Amino acid sequence: MKHSKFSGVLSCLAFFLLASFIMAPLALCAELPTVAIVTTGGTIAEKTDPTTGGAVPAVSGEDLLAAVPGLAKVAKIKVVEFSNIDSSQMTPEMWAKLSVTVDGLLADPAIVGAVVTHGTDTMAEGAYFLDLTLKSEKPVVFVGAMRDASDVSPDGPANILNAVIQAASDEARGWGVTVTLNEYINSARNVRKTNSTNVQTFDSGEQGYLGYIAMGKVLRYNDALGRQKLPIPAALPKVALLATFAGDDGAFVRNAVDQGAQGIVIEGVGAGNVNAEVYKAVQYALEKGIAVVITTRVYYSGVWPIYGDQGGGATLEKAGAILGGDLTGPKARLLLMLALAQAKNDLAGLKKYFTR
Ligand code: ASP
Repeated sequence: MKHSKFSGVLSCLAFFLLASFIMAPLALCAELPTVAIVTTGGTIAEKTDPTTGGAVPAVSGEDLLAAVPGLAKVAKIKVVEFSNIDSSQMTPEMWAKLSVTVDGLLADPAIVGAVVTHGTDTMAEGAYFLDLTLKSEKPVVFVGAMRDASDVSPDGPANILNAVIQAASDEARGWGVTVTLNEYINSARNVRKTNSTNVQTFDSGEQGYLGYIAMGKVLRYNDALGRQKLPIPAALPKVALLATFAGDDGAFVRNAVDQGAQGIVIEGVGAGNVNAEVYKAVQYALEKGIAVVITTRVYYSGVWPIYGDQGGGATLEKAGAILGGDLTGPKARLLLMLALAQAKNDLAGLKKYFTR
Protein backbone atom coordinates (compact mmCIF):
# COMPACT_ATOMS: atom_id res chain seq x y z
CA MET A 1 0.00 0.00 0.00
CA LYS A 2 2.62 2.56 1.19
CA HIS A 3 4.99 1.69 -1.75
CA SER A 4 2.31 2.29 -4.50
CA LYS A 5 1.23 5.73 -3.06
CA PHE A 6 4.89 6.84 -2.86
CA SER A 7 5.60 5.70 -6.44
CA GLY A 8 2.41 7.47 -7.57
CA VAL A 9 3.60 10.74 -6.01
CA LEU A 10 7.04 10.18 -7.48
CA SER A 11 5.74 9.60 -11.03
CA CYS A 12 3.53 12.73 -10.73
CA LEU A 13 6.54 14.72 -9.59
CA ALA A 14 8.64 13.28 -12.44
CA PHE A 15 5.86 14.17 -14.91
CA PHE A 16 5.61 17.76 -13.70
CA LEU A 17 9.37 18.21 -13.73
CA LEU A 18 9.55 16.81 -17.26
CA ALA A 19 6.66 18.99 -18.41
CA SER A 20 8.13 22.21 -17.01
CA PHE A 21 11.56 21.23 -18.38
CA ILE A 22 10.08 20.92 -21.91
CA MET A 23 7.43 23.64 -21.80
CA ALA A 24 9.36 26.50 -20.16
CA PRO A 25 11.65 27.33 -23.15
CA LEU A 26 8.79 26.76 -25.61
CA ALA A 27 6.58 29.17 -23.65
CA LEU A 28 9.39 31.75 -23.71
CA CYS A 29 10.00 31.36 -27.51
CA ALA A 30 6.33 31.51 -28.30
CA GLU A 31 5.93 34.77 -26.43
CA LEU A 32 8.78 36.68 -28.04
CA PRO A 33 7.58 39.34 -30.50
CA THR A 34 9.14 39.67 -33.96
CA VAL A 35 11.02 42.84 -34.86
CA ALA A 36 12.32 43.61 -38.35
CA ILE A 37 15.82 45.11 -38.58
CA VAL A 38 16.65 46.90 -41.84
CA THR A 39 20.35 47.68 -42.21
CA THR A 40 21.59 50.56 -44.41
CA GLY A 41 25.20 51.13 -43.23
CA GLY A 42 26.85 53.98 -41.33
CA THR A 43 29.58 53.98 -38.67
CA ILE A 44 27.69 51.26 -36.80
CA ALA A 45 28.58 48.89 -39.70
CA GLU A 46 32.00 50.39 -40.49
CA LYS A 47 35.52 49.39 -39.51
CA THR A 48 38.82 51.25 -39.76
CA ASP A 49 40.56 50.37 -43.04
CA PRO A 50 44.22 49.66 -42.12
CA THR A 51 45.44 51.04 -45.45
CA THR A 52 43.64 54.41 -45.32
CA GLY A 53 43.22 54.60 -41.53
CA GLY A 54 39.62 55.76 -42.18
CA ALA A 55 36.30 54.06 -41.34
CA VAL A 56 34.65 52.26 -44.27
CA PRO A 57 31.52 50.07 -44.63
CA ALA A 58 32.61 46.58 -43.57
CA VAL A 59 30.03 44.74 -41.45
CA SER A 60 27.05 42.80 -42.88
CA GLY A 61 23.59 42.93 -41.35
CA GLU A 62 23.92 39.41 -39.92
CA ASP A 63 27.33 40.17 -38.39
CA LEU A 64 26.03 43.43 -36.95
CA LEU A 65 23.35 41.57 -34.99
CA ALA A 66 25.62 38.69 -34.01
CA ALA A 67 27.62 41.26 -32.02
CA VAL A 68 24.63 42.16 -29.82
CA PRO A 69 24.53 39.99 -26.66
CA GLY A 70 21.06 39.21 -25.28
CA LEU A 71 19.17 40.22 -28.42
CA ALA A 72 17.57 36.77 -28.76
CA LYS A 73 16.03 37.17 -25.28
CA VAL A 74 14.22 40.37 -26.32
CA ALA A 75 12.71 39.50 -29.71
CA LYS A 76 12.79 37.28 -32.75
CA ILE A 77 14.60 39.20 -35.47
CA LYS A 78 13.94 39.37 -39.21
CA VAL A 79 16.95 41.00 -40.91
CA VAL A 80 16.81 42.81 -44.25
CA GLU A 81 20.03 44.25 -45.68
CA PHE A 82 18.86 47.32 -47.64
CA SER A 83 22.31 48.85 -48.30
CA ASN A 84 25.73 49.26 -46.68
CA ILE A 85 26.80 52.85 -47.27
CA ASP A 86 28.00 55.85 -45.27
CA SER A 87 24.90 58.01 -44.79
CA SER A 88 26.67 60.93 -46.47
CA GLN A 89 25.85 58.95 -49.66
CA MET A 90 22.11 58.67 -48.90
CA THR A 91 19.52 60.33 -51.19
CA PRO A 92 15.79 61.17 -50.86
CA GLU A 93 15.18 58.60 -53.60
CA MET A 94 16.84 55.93 -51.42
CA TRP A 95 14.72 57.01 -48.42
CA ALA A 96 11.63 56.66 -50.62
CA LYS A 97 12.63 53.05 -51.41
CA LEU A 98 13.49 52.45 -47.73
CA SER A 99 10.05 53.72 -46.71
CA VAL A 100 8.33 51.26 -49.07
CA THR A 101 10.56 48.42 -47.80
CA VAL A 102 9.78 49.15 -44.14
CA ASP A 103 6.04 49.50 -44.85
CA GLY A 104 6.15 46.14 -46.64
CA LEU A 105 7.69 44.47 -43.58
CA LEU A 106 5.29 46.14 -41.12
CA ALA A 107 2.30 44.92 -43.14
CA ASP A 108 3.07 41.47 -41.69
CA PRO A 109 0.84 41.14 -38.58
CA ALA A 110 3.53 39.05 -36.85
CA ILE A 111 6.00 41.96 -36.99
CA VAL A 112 5.37 44.41 -34.12
CA GLY A 113 7.90 47.08 -35.07
CA ALA A 114 11.05 47.86 -37.04
CA VAL A 115 14.59 49.08 -36.40
CA VAL A 116 16.59 50.87 -39.12
CA THR A 117 20.37 50.97 -38.68
CA HIS A 118 21.67 54.09 -40.44
CA GLY A 119 24.60 56.49 -40.41
CA THR A 120 24.22 59.42 -38.03
CA ASP A 121 25.26 62.16 -40.51
CA THR A 122 21.89 62.21 -42.31
CA MET A 123 19.87 60.12 -39.86
CA ALA A 124 17.71 63.04 -38.74
CA GLU A 125 16.55 63.64 -42.33
CA GLY A 126 16.13 59.93 -43.15
CA ALA A 127 14.00 59.40 -40.05
CA TYR A 128 11.91 62.49 -40.89
CA PHE A 129 11.35 61.32 -44.48
CA LEU A 130 10.04 57.97 -43.23
CA ASP A 131 7.93 59.64 -40.53
CA LEU A 132 6.26 61.73 -43.27
CA THR A 133 5.71 58.83 -45.68
CA LEU A 134 5.23 55.53 -43.81
CA LYS A 135 1.66 54.22 -43.89
CA SER A 136 2.14 51.91 -40.89
CA GLU A 137 1.76 53.37 -37.39
CA LYS A 138 3.90 50.62 -35.81
CA PRO A 139 7.09 51.84 -34.03
CA VAL A 140 10.11 52.46 -36.28
CA VAL A 141 13.38 53.19 -34.49
CA PHE A 142 16.38 54.66 -36.30
CA VAL A 143 19.68 53.74 -34.62
CA GLY A 144 23.35 54.08 -35.33
CA ALA A 145 26.68 54.58 -33.61
CA MET A 146 29.34 57.26 -33.18
CA ARG A 147 32.19 54.78 -32.76
CA ASP A 148 32.82 52.20 -35.48
CA ALA A 149 32.79 48.43 -34.98
CA SER A 150 36.60 48.23 -34.66
CA ASP A 151 36.74 50.91 -31.92
CA VAL A 152 37.88 49.98 -28.36
CA SER A 153 34.31 50.38 -27.09
CA PRO A 154 31.81 50.54 -29.95
CA ASP A 155 28.45 52.04 -28.93
CA GLY A 156 26.55 50.14 -31.68
CA PRO A 157 25.58 46.89 -29.89
CA ALA A 158 23.98 48.62 -26.86
CA ASN A 159 22.17 51.05 -29.19
CA ILE A 160 20.75 48.17 -31.26
CA LEU A 161 19.58 46.29 -28.15
CA ASN A 162 17.78 49.39 -26.84
CA ALA A 163 16.24 50.05 -30.25
CA VAL A 164 14.82 46.51 -30.41
CA ILE A 165 13.52 46.81 -26.83
CA GLN A 166 11.78 50.05 -27.85
CA ALA A 167 10.38 48.67 -31.14
CA ALA A 168 8.91 45.70 -29.25
CA SER A 169 7.47 47.76 -26.39
CA ASP A 170 3.91 49.06 -25.93
CA GLU A 171 5.24 52.31 -24.40
CA ALA A 172 6.62 53.31 -27.81
CA ARG A 173 3.27 53.25 -29.62
CA GLY A 174 2.08 56.43 -31.28
CA TRP A 175 5.54 58.00 -31.56
CA GLY A 176 5.89 57.06 -35.25
CA VAL A 177 9.55 57.18 -36.29
CA THR A 178 12.13 57.98 -33.63
CA VAL A 179 15.92 58.39 -33.43
CA THR A 180 17.26 56.52 -30.41
CA LEU A 181 20.95 56.63 -29.47
CA ASN A 182 22.72 56.54 -26.12
CA GLU A 183 19.40 55.69 -24.40
CA TYR A 184 17.66 58.95 -25.42
CA ILE A 185 14.54 58.78 -27.63
CA ASN A 186 14.00 61.69 -30.07
CA SER A 187 11.11 62.46 -32.40
CA ALA A 188 11.98 62.34 -36.10
CA ARG A 189 10.64 65.88 -36.63
CA ASN A 190 12.67 67.61 -33.90
CA VAL A 191 15.87 65.58 -33.69
CA ARG A 192 19.25 67.08 -34.67
CA LYS A 193 22.82 65.82 -34.68
CA THR A 194 24.65 68.21 -32.33
CA ASN A 195 28.14 66.71 -31.93
CA SER A 196 30.32 65.26 -34.70
CA THR A 197 32.20 62.80 -32.43
CA ASN A 198 30.51 62.28 -29.03
CA VAL A 199 28.10 59.34 -28.38
CA GLN A 200 25.58 61.80 -26.88
CA THR A 201 25.06 63.60 -30.18
CA PHE A 202 21.30 63.67 -30.83
CA ASP A 203 18.81 65.93 -29.08
CA SER A 204 15.43 67.47 -29.80
CA GLY A 205 16.14 71.05 -28.77
CA GLU A 206 13.45 72.89 -26.87
CA GLN A 207 10.82 70.26 -27.74
CA GLY A 208 12.60 67.79 -25.47
CA TYR A 209 13.16 64.07 -25.59
CA LEU A 210 10.19 61.74 -26.14
CA GLY A 211 11.59 59.28 -23.63
CA TYR A 212 14.51 57.32 -22.22
CA ILE A 213 15.55 53.65 -21.98
CA ALA A 214 17.24 52.23 -18.88
CA MET A 215 17.72 48.60 -17.82
CA GLY A 216 15.44 47.40 -20.61
CA LYS A 217 12.60 49.73 -19.60
CA VAL A 218 11.15 52.41 -21.91
CA LEU A 219 10.16 55.62 -20.06
CA ARG A 220 7.68 57.86 -21.86
CA TYR A 221 8.16 61.62 -21.26
CA ASN A 222 6.39 63.24 -24.23
CA ASP A 223 4.14 62.59 -27.22
CA ALA A 224 5.39 63.23 -30.74
CA LEU A 225 3.81 66.44 -31.91
CA GLY A 226 3.48 68.02 -35.35
CA ARG A 227 3.41 64.75 -37.26
CA GLN A 228 1.94 64.77 -40.79
CA LYS A 229 1.65 62.29 -43.65
CA LEU A 230 2.29 62.75 -47.38
CA PRO A 231 2.37 60.17 -50.16
CA ILE A 232 5.62 59.34 -51.99
CA PRO A 233 5.39 60.69 -55.57
CA ALA A 234 6.66 58.71 -58.57
CA ALA A 235 9.45 61.28 -58.99
CA LEU A 236 10.72 63.65 -56.32
CA PRO A 237 10.87 67.30 -57.45
CA LYS A 238 14.26 69.06 -57.61
CA VAL A 239 14.59 71.29 -54.55
CA ALA A 240 17.71 73.32 -53.74
CA LEU A 241 18.96 74.09 -50.21
CA LEU A 242 21.07 77.27 -49.87
CA ALA A 243 22.56 78.87 -46.75
CA THR A 244 22.79 82.67 -46.99
CA PHE A 245 25.77 84.63 -45.61
CA ALA A 246 26.93 88.20 -45.01
CA GLY A 247 27.49 89.87 -48.39
CA ASP A 248 25.44 87.30 -50.34
CA ASP A 249 24.62 88.87 -53.77
CA GLY A 250 21.75 86.45 -54.50
CA ALA A 251 23.57 84.79 -57.43
CA PHE A 252 23.20 81.27 -55.98
CA VAL A 253 19.42 81.68 -55.66
CA ARG A 254 19.15 82.97 -59.25
CA ASN A 255 21.36 80.15 -60.42
CA ALA A 256 19.17 77.54 -58.72
CA VAL A 257 16.14 78.96 -60.55
CA ASP A 258 18.00 78.97 -63.86
CA GLN A 259 19.16 75.38 -63.22
CA GLY A 260 15.55 74.18 -63.05
CA ALA A 261 14.90 73.98 -59.31
CA GLN A 262 11.15 73.48 -58.68
CA GLY A 263 11.58 74.72 -55.11
CA ILE A 264 14.23 76.49 -53.03
CA VAL A 265 14.90 76.38 -49.28
CA ILE A 266 16.99 79.29 -48.00
CA GLU A 267 18.61 78.93 -44.57
CA GLY A 268 18.47 82.53 -43.40
CA VAL A 269 19.92 84.30 -40.36
CA GLY A 270 18.27 85.21 -37.05
CA ALA A 271 14.47 84.87 -37.09
CA GLY A 272 14.60 84.02 -40.83
CA ASN A 273 16.06 87.07 -42.56
CA VAL A 274 18.14 87.60 -45.73
CA ASN A 275 19.78 90.74 -47.16
CA ALA A 276 18.28 93.03 -49.84
CA GLU A 277 20.13 91.35 -52.77
CA VAL A 278 18.92 87.89 -51.76
CA TYR A 279 15.41 89.34 -51.28
CA LYS A 280 15.45 90.51 -54.93
CA ALA A 281 16.61 87.02 -55.98
CA VAL A 282 13.72 85.50 -53.99
CA GLN A 283 11.29 87.79 -55.85
CA TYR A 284 12.91 86.59 -59.12
CA ALA A 285 12.18 82.97 -58.12
CA LEU A 286 8.61 83.69 -56.99
CA GLU A 287 7.84 85.54 -60.23
CA LYS A 288 8.87 82.35 -62.08
CA GLY A 289 6.43 80.34 -59.92
CA ILE A 290 9.19 78.66 -57.89
CA ALA A 291 8.26 77.98 -54.25
CA VAL A 292 10.66 79.47 -51.67
CA VAL A 293 10.81 78.33 -48.02
CA ILE A 294 12.79 80.27 -45.41
CA THR A 295 14.43 78.51 -42.45
CA THR A 296 17.17 79.71 -40.10
CA ARG A 297 20.62 78.61 -38.98
CA VAL A 298 19.67 79.53 -35.42
CA TYR A 299 19.06 76.49 -33.17
CA TYR A 300 16.04 77.56 -31.09
CA SER A 301 12.61 79.06 -31.84
CA GLY A 302 12.87 79.10 -35.64
CA VAL A 303 11.49 81.57 -38.18
CA TRP A 304 9.02 84.41 -37.42
CA PRO A 305 7.67 87.38 -39.48
CA ILE A 306 9.32 89.96 -37.15
CA TYR A 307 11.50 92.16 -39.44
CA GLY A 308 10.01 94.44 -42.14
CA ASP A 309 13.02 95.73 -44.10
CA GLN A 310 14.24 94.42 -47.53
CA GLY A 311 14.67 90.71 -46.73
CA GLY A 312 13.11 90.66 -43.26
CA GLY A 313 10.86 87.71 -42.47
CA ALA A 314 7.67 89.81 -42.59
CA THR A 315 8.61 91.24 -46.01
CA LEU A 316 9.57 87.81 -47.38
CA GLU A 317 6.22 86.36 -46.24
CA LYS A 318 4.30 89.28 -47.85
CA ALA A 319 6.18 88.63 -51.11
CA GLY A 320 4.99 84.99 -51.10
CA ALA A 321 7.87 83.12 -49.46
CA ILE A 322 6.85 80.42 -46.94
CA LEU A 323 8.25 80.67 -43.39
CA GLY A 324 9.51 77.23 -42.36
CA GLY A 325 8.80 77.41 -38.63
CA ASP A 326 11.39 75.52 -36.55
CA LEU A 327 12.25 72.94 -39.19
CA THR A 328 15.92 72.63 -40.10
CA GLY A 329 16.91 73.48 -43.69
CA PRO A 330 17.50 69.83 -44.72
CA LYS A 331 14.12 68.72 -43.27
CA ALA A 332 12.25 71.67 -44.83
CA ARG A 333 13.75 70.58 -48.17
CA LEU A 334 12.33 67.05 -47.82
CA LEU A 335 8.92 68.38 -46.75
CA LEU A 336 8.87 70.82 -49.70
CA MET A 337 9.74 67.97 -52.11
CA LEU A 338 6.78 65.91 -50.91
CA ALA A 339 4.42 68.92 -50.63
CA LEU A 340 5.25 70.18 -54.16
CA ALA A 341 4.23 66.79 -55.55
CA GLN A 342 0.81 67.32 -53.86
CA ALA A 343 0.15 71.05 -54.07
CA LYS A 344 2.28 71.88 -57.12
CA ASN A 345 2.88 75.66 -56.87
CA ASP A 346 -0.36 76.56 -55.11
CA LEU A 347 1.10 78.78 -52.37
CA ALA A 348 -1.80 78.34 -49.90
CA GLY A 349 -1.72 74.58 -50.51
CA LEU A 350 2.02 74.49 -49.80
CA LYS A 351 1.92 76.84 -46.80
CA LYS A 352 -0.32 74.55 -44.73
CA TYR A 353 2.41 71.91 -44.54
CA PHE A 354 4.75 74.43 -42.86
CA THR A 355 2.30 76.05 -40.48
CA ARG A 356 3.09 75.26 -36.82
N1 ASP B 1 29.70 59.12 -41.47
C1 ASP B 1 28.88 58.25 -40.70
C2 ASP B 1 27.55 58.11 -41.39
O1 ASP B 1 26.75 58.90 -41.34
C3 ASP B 1 28.72 58.82 -39.30
C4 ASP B 1 28.02 57.90 -38.35
O2 ASP B 1 27.32 56.98 -38.74
O3 ASP B 1 28.15 58.15 -37.13
O4 ASP B 1 27.29 57.20 -42.01
